[in-house]
Amino acid sequence: MPPRRRRHAPHKGQAALFDSDMPLPFGILDLEDRITADAGPPVRVKCYVRGCPEMLRPPTKGFPGDPCKTHGIRCHLSSSTVTYTYAVATDNLITAPQVFRTRVRGNPHKLETHRFGYCNSEDALTWNVLRSFQDAGALHLIAEHVTGRELSEEPQLYLWGLSSFDDKFQPWPLLKEAHKRFEIGRLPITRPLSEPDAMLVVPKKLVLILEAKLLADNPVAYRSGPRKSSQSLTLEEVIDLYHDSGQQLLDYDKLRAAPHSYTQLQRYLTIADYVARIDSPKTDAYLASVVRAGHEHDATRTMRGFMRPGYGNRFVRLTWESIFTLAQLRGRQLGRLSEYMLTKAVGLSGGFAPAFCLDAW
Ligand SMILES: [Zn+2]
Repeated sequence: MPPRRRRHAPHKGQAALFDSDMPLPFGILDLEDRITADAGPPVRVKCYVRGCPEMLRPPTKGFPGDPCKTHGIRCHLSSSTVTYTYAVATDNLITAPQVFRTRVRGNPHKLETHRFGYCNSEDALTWNVLRSFQDAGALHLIAEHVTGRELSEEPQLYLWGLSSFDDKFQPWPLLKEAHKRFEIGRLPITRPLSEPDAMLVVPKKLVLILEAKLLADNPVAYRSGPRKSSQSLTLEEVIDLYHDSGQQLLDYDKLRAAPHSYTQLQRYLTIADYVARIDSPKTDAYLASVVRAGHEHDATRTMRGFMRPGYGNRFVRLTWESIFTLAQLRGRQLGRLSEYMLTKAVGLSGGFAPAFCLDAW
């Protein structure tokens, strides 16, 4: 069977007139069911796009890998995970590629922009989903779903702490205040400052941090446990560093007595609480752990157990599948996003699988 869709290298100076002119990233139906490799030498793998005969050398240390001339992907082959990367990272985006190219790639405040081209990239997924909602003026649907409040205005979207709603991708001053309060000059090791995947902000009303996971788990730390990597904090350090006497959401007595905690979620609860308080006394803080259906229930149960009475609803588990349902409320306006989520694949051990449990085929 011939490849379903041919990806064209863009001609110099030519951009798609509308985002909808861009092909969607390859979906589960476009990808081979089985991985075919030739042990070589050199090791080669058949392009992962269904029916493509190209044999490609996968990336190795010091060698970027052969991109398929037809499909523009490099096929990675490792013992743990099968995946691929787009030679042109914006081929993995479904909306606003020009904004990404000019404002995000190379932005000194955004880490790891080279990862956007990976099939399994959480950042590309976050961009595709939340920028699509922004473009449709539908971010309030997500905020209303999480908070249970009706909103008369559209929230401002920040991605990785940078302003997406105005396309400027400038750091949010209140997040910089949180960095100063909790991190700058205080961290015992060298590590990046907190960079929430996404924030929905309605000034003087609410701050909702979204921590997005695709295949990774929420990091957990155990009492008296060792540092997991040179850049990770121990549970005790997170409890000591991210503590503010005015904070409302977390019960620190329970945290100090707990055998384990999900430290990234804990940090973002404290930061959401802090930025909401410096925004205004009326601003409420929320955190949503955005995960796939069937995942991260222990993280939800554990973190819920640390919330102070009356604040339990400020932390929620939000599935990508629920966000898909919210996209359906906008019908064709978010049809491109819906098709992307329905067909989105992830590379796992041995092959590809649908990213989400959506039985709307
Ligand atoms: Zn190919």
